[in-house]
Amino acid sequence: KGGQTDREIPFALPGSLTKVIAVASGKGGVGKSSVTVNLALSLAAAGRSVGLLDADIYGHSVPAMLGIADAKPTSVEDMILPVPSQGLKVMSIGMLKPRRDQVIAWRGPILDRALTQMLADVYWGDLDYLLLDLPPGTGDVAISLGQKLPNAEVLVVTTPQAAAAEVAERAGTMASMMNQRVIGVVENMSYLAVTCPHCGEEQRHEVFGHGGGQDTADGLTTRLGYDVPLLAQIPLDPRLRAGGDEGLPVVSTAPDQPSARALAELATGL
Ligand code: ADP
Repeated sequence: KGGQTDREIPFALPGSLTKVIAVASGKGGVGKSSVTVNLALSLAAAGRSVGLLDADIYGHSVPAMLGIADAKPTSVEDMILPVPSQGLKVMSIGMLKPRRDQVIAWRGPILDRALTQMLADVYWGDLDYLLLDLPPGTGDVAISLGQKLPNAEVLVVTTPQAAAAEVAERAGTMASMMNQRVIGVVENMSYLAVTCPHCGEEQRHEVFGHGGGQDTADGLTTRLGYDVPLLAQIPLDPRLRAGGDEGLPVVSTAPDQPSARALAELATGL
């Protein structure tokens, strides 16, 4: 879709009151989108005005996680209206495609223009928070968004696996090179809590190993020269997975689950 205007990105203007938080990861499948969606909903539940921009060109799974996989944004004159969903204002790079099953193979400049359009030509209104779901890794989108939103804060999501820590650290370092501040690391899929059928005690099975979140935080602290804390450890939880599949995320539908509590607590610190 053409029609790009030369509007400025409101979130990049001095004096913008919107806190922009980009959620990054080193690789796919670590739960970056799940974390982003649940954080956005937690902030909205606390009465904040929240925009959620799905910039994951490979995944763009945010709409499905909110049950709006087929939603199309409408427009008024030359402004695109974000899709309202569960108290959020949502825009996804997938929504710019004419067909849902189409594969996005945009080159740098077109991708860059699409990102500008989603930031400047979408009528976000006054937001307290804009959450961005980045693609995994350190590609074109991260660079483009780093240039457009140097004031964004970055959360790095990883798993407990040692092998994941290195790529996660790279994603954080990349953000920092774009002058974005890395505010912390989230370790997802940290453990599976199982209640012992005999003694009733809760046991934690560290299915994906141990320490990856802390290692990533320590590595980034050393590299970036400021404290990058491990902010949360979110357990493996079938309810979290099901919530995403069903379009009814866990923080809204099962807030007492330990995974939901960890996410809600993480949100209060943002
Ligand atoms: P990414 O955005 O990093 O590619 P997703 O958020 O799409 O990852 O998550 C990948 C899959 O793992 C999804 O099916 C999601 O429901 C599931 N998942 C993510 N976090 C958890 C968790 N803590 N417990 C159980 N399943 C999870």
